[in-house]
Amino acid sequence: MKSIIIPESYNYIAVFLTFSCNLRCSFCINDFGSVARTTKRRLLSGKEWVEGLNRIVSRPDLPITLQGGEPTLHKDFVYIINNIKPELNIDVLTNLRDEKIFIGNIDPRRLKRDAPYASIRVSYHPEQMSLNELIRKVLKMQNNGFSVGIWGIMHPKQEIEILKAEKYCKSLGIDFRTKEFLGTHKGKIYGQYRYPGAISKRDKKSVFCKTTELIIGPNGDIYRCTADVYEKRKSIGHILDPDFQIEDKFRLCEWFGHCNPCDIKVKTNRFQQFGHSSVEIKFQDQEV
Ligand code: SF4
Ligand code: SF4
Repeated sequence: MKSIIIPESYNYIAVFLTFSCNLRCSFCINDFGSVARTTKRRLLSGKEWVEGLNRIVSRPDLPITLQGGEPTLHKDFVYIINNIKPELNIDVLTNLRDEKIFIGNIDPRRLKRDAPYASIRVSYHPEQMSLNELIRKVLKMQNNGFSVGIWGIMHPKQEIEILKAEKYCKSLGIDFRTKEFLGTHKGKIYGQYRYPGAISKRDKKSVFCKTTELIIGPNGDIYRCTADVYEKRKSIGHILDPDFQIEDKFRLCEWFGHCNPCDIKVKTNRFQQFGHSSVEIKFQDQEV
């Protein structure tokens, strides 16, 4: 199989091992008008993931991020981490349902790199979790040498709890970060977006769109954007297609208006320039 070379302009490699989750958060981003958790998809086996992911040639500052759903629910989660080639750095987004999956099974040095934030980023969901229990697990992970931090989403319903948790965790020496809530609550749209109307979920419009992310779904399909993987729209390739190569180009998309907040949110790129988003969109009257 051919190597998959990550373009210089790319900023993220998302590996959705599964959309299954042990929790049921009321504002799960996987459910942003989507079919992610209700659609049955074949999951790639650990062996298949390792074969596919080991084709990737990336930079040290661009890890592959194992995420979900809850990625540790993949039956071969440990095997995948332990068999990805050492040249690839690995980050994990998890709700840390069971710290024993990591401790004793995975070398903490495998999930560590030179970055301003932890490689294992644990999401704290006050409506579904006990903070004390989460802190116990995170401290245990830290004591076992893992690079681990907690992230809380500033959803209007839980802002106060998140800020309290942040203060408490920091007093215990735990890296706790807050993340803005993206999406709609009580009719109000939260977050700053680069393209007005992109997440309105009203009309559909045809545009040209170019991504800066490699997005791989649970069955190995590769998508144009996060909305496409959640909605199970048409894929643009497969990680096990021996000829698959990334084409860094604008593609026609008829789904503008039904984009995912994660793709459109305004952020700072890796050169610390503000005003970027994961995708760049050109409208029909613009030159591509
Ligand atoms: S833990 Fe994450 S993936 Fe699971 S339900 Fe909550 S927000 Fe969704
Ligand atoms: S226009 Fe929106 S839905 Fe279409 S590919 Fe771009 S981000 Fe995805």
